[in-house]
Amino acid sequence: MTGDFIRIKCPDCANEQISFKKAATRVTCHVCGATLIVPKGGVGEIKGEVIEVVS
Ligand SMILES: [Zn+2]
Repeated sequence: MTGDFIRIKCPDCANEQISFKKAATRVTCHVCGATLIVPKGGVGEIKGEVIEVVS
């Protein structure tokens, strides 16, 4: 299965981190705590910038 993980860039502090795209819980930036992904009907609503899809 591919495309389940994404590298996402925080809009506030530019930190990059890997996250599960279909997050069941809210994903926050490890550095500043900004919300990066909001769970929504099985597919996360991405608030940050997606740098790449990680297979
Ligand atoms: Zn941040």
